[in-house]
Amino acid sequence: MRTQVAIVGGGPSGLLLGQLLHKAGIDAVIVERVSGDYVLGRIRAGILEQVSIDLMDEAGVGARMHKEGLVHEGIEMLFGGERHRVDLNKLTGGKNVMVYGQTELTRDLMEARSAAGLPTVYEAQNVRVHEFDSTHPYVTYEKNGKSERIDCDFIAGCDGFHGVCRASAPRSAIKEYEKVYPFGWLGLLADTPPVNHELIYVNSPRGFALCSQRSATRSRYYLQVPLTDKVEEWTDDAFWQELKLRLDDKGRRDLVTGPSIEKSIAPLRSFVTEPLRFGRMFLAGDAGHIVPPTGAKGLNLAATDVKFLHDAIVEFYKDKSEAGIDDYSRKCLGRIWRAERFSWWFTQLMHRFPHDEAITSKFQNAELDYLMNSESGLKTIAENYVGLPLDFGASKR
Ligand SMILES: Cc1cc2nc3c(=O)[nH]c(=O)nc-3n(C[C@H](O)[C@H](O)[C@H](O)COP(=O)(O)OP(=O)(O)OC[C@H]3O[C@@H](n4cnc5c(N)ncnc54)[C@H](O)[C@@H]3O)c2cc1C
Repeated sequence: MRTQVAIVGGGPSGLLLGQLLHKAGIDAVIVERVSGDYVLGRIRAGILEQVSIDLMDEAGVGARMHKEGLVHEGIEMLFGGERHRVDLNKLTGGKNVMVYGQTELTRDLMEARSAAGLPTVYEAQNVRVHEFDSTHPYVTYEKNGKSERIDCDFIAGCDGFHGVCRASAPRSAIKEYEKVYPFGWLGLLADTPPVNHELIYVNSPRGFALCSQRSATRSRYYLQVPLTDKVEEWTDDAFWQELKLRLDDKGRRDLVTGPSIEKSIAPLRSFVTEPLRFGRMFLAGDAGHIVPPTGAKGLNLAATDVKFLHDAIVEFYKDKSEAGIDDYSRKCLGRIWRAERFSWWFTQLMHRFPHDEAITSKFQNAELDYLMNSESGLKTIAENYVGLPLDFGASKR
């Protein structure tokens, strides 16, 4: 088989890139290791920045998102037993975020892809990338016991943190930066109305909690837990009890509990690969970087990588220019490091770390108190949370 762009990985990055390239008249084949149902079963991100919303529109798949997504103009911060609101809209001159689950976004992209008859190979085994340091790279895989080969001009590594693309880059050409946090997030999804119309980020003496949501009838809650905890050890009752202990009186009163429809523990990590381009192979999304979910940046960063990669590939074919692909890593990494910094900072501010001294939580409370009472402190949180502009800092370079 021959195509212009072979996309490895059919998660949000791969699907969005495929759809945007299709709109630009560029052929792409997606090769995905697991089944489509498996991809849709993964409960992950839920907050879209404006840039991701715009890209879904550009890809022509935004209709359901605009109908069902919930626009949020603020978030709440709970610490020292009191809630404080961060008015995102007012503090950023009208910017908001949208609650729309990654599962729904993925479903919209999958349906559009299948409606347009675009090729996706699911359950491809032993996927390998070859000769990406030349102008004739190719991808191989096995399916139904047969070996297959896709010749292409470019390989897009959209295959997540554990994928094959980053692992295939020569070790001498890659530098990886990593911080693993000494706790995880236990997430619970339930068909219950959210405890609050906006998200609540909680710093409590018992650890961090997040009251999030997927719709007006579906809630997503998270608890900071030790990495040694096993999800099977957490009954629904134990989860709700612990969440109540981390909330304020109003939260305890308003919380509607119910049976979980999904529960999982995710480890937290900050991770960046430099560069993101290896000849004719590019890394996008979680293949190149991971953020702790505290700042809700993972999916949004993936979407901006995809935008930059799409623009560079279009420039290559339409203008016969390699300037965009030459600049891909630099352009993405500026934005990635800013989001990494915010996510790391917000994680440090909101979580209890093992062996923290009593003074650390006092420092956290004092910093939160300062931020909530300072216009510039509030602005700092708000502008990072809604996502810095794509050209942020460009005028200074
Ligand atoms: C529990 C959890 C909660 C999260 N919460 C948030 C949040 O609130 N907000 C936020 O913005 N982000 C969040 N994230 C991060 C967000 O989900 C990711 O950033 C996003 O999924 C990245 O998309 P991606 O397509 O780059 O990678 P992935 O979603 O990981 O997709 C990669 C795809 O590649 C496939 N693949 C892997 N290896 C191969 C191979 N060898 N060959 C072919 N295919 C392969 C995988 O099966 C997968 O389908 C969360 C992540 C997790 C795990």
